[in-house]
Amino acid sequence: MDNGFAIHTIAQTPNPQTLVWLAMHQDYSEDAVWDCSPPEEWRCGEIIVRRLLGGDRGHYGPLEHPQISFNVVGFPHSTMQQLRTHRHATFDVQSGRYTGQRFLDAAKGDRSVEDVFWLRPVGEYSDRNGKRYQYTEQQRRDDLEWCRVACQRYAAKITAGFSEEHARAMIPFEFRQDWVMSGNARAILHLLDLRWKKDAQWECQFFAEMLFERFALWMPAVGAWYAHSRGGKARLAP
Ligand SMILES: Cc1cc2nc3c(=O)[nH]c(=O)nc-3n(C[C@H](O)[C@H](O)[C@H](O)COP(=O)(O)OP(=O)(O)OC[C@H]3O[C@@H](n4cnc5c(N)ncnc54)[C@H](O)[C@@H]3O)c2cc1C
Repeated sequence: MDNGFAIHTIAQTPNPQTLVWLAMHQDYSEDAVWDCSPPEEWRCGEIIVRRLLGGDRGHYGPLEHPQISFNVVGFPHSTMQQLRTHRHATFDVQSGRYTGQRFLDAAKGDRSVEDVFWLRPVGEYSDRNGKRYQYTEQQRRDDLEWCRVACQRYAAKITAGFSEEHARAMIPFEFRQDWVMSGNARAILHLLDLRWKKDAQWECQFFAEMLFERFALWMPAVGAWYAHSRGGKARLAP
């Protein structure tokens, strides 16, 4: 099943590993790094991993210089809510206070309910205590219908003259949201530390996996180091 989730990189510092190398180099250079010729980007990656990160050196400061921005698409509201707890990343997301056209479209049947809400696939799940349960085809169909009826109730409120910020109380929790988020390399890795571990919500783990793929394309050497030493291992920074 296509889950409708996507993460697109919309802006990124060019040559991020070179920038980290320059910041690191300034830490022990007598003269301004402006005047030096850094090694190639891939070589800078190798050097910064060895000198800053390898062997748990924990010298993360230089990773704060390169910045990256993503457009995150179609994740449920709860995922956005949890990711927004990370104070070193910046987010922009629709509040629902002024608009909610997609709920009106779903109410009319102009947009599919699956396109507007996220419901987990049919299958076997377990609760936090390990107790197993089934999510059946029929239950999922009923839940989709519940979302559709909720959109109709939302539409009725809007027709009755309610504001969007008042009518949105009718909407089930896991409506899909798109957002723009930005952060520096260190902030992104910290977010991965917390959201790629096994007790994070499933959608957050999935998000983290996708985010890591984008990160590793941008900073391949740091990405390889991260995957090997920290990724999914719940090695948390304080
Ligand atoms: C599996 C899981 C379940 C969770 N459940 C809940 C929940 O039920 N309810 C809930 O409210 N939250 C919950 N959280 C959120 C969690 O408690 C953190 O608030 C959130 O993940 C932000 O991470 P962080 O504390 O590392 O801070 P970030 O904002 O990501 O900041 C990064 C780092 O900067 C430092 N820092 C940032 N701000 C400060 C500050 N003001 N003072 C001191 N140091 C600072 C800390 O070293 C911090 O680790 C959960 C998180 C996870 C991963």
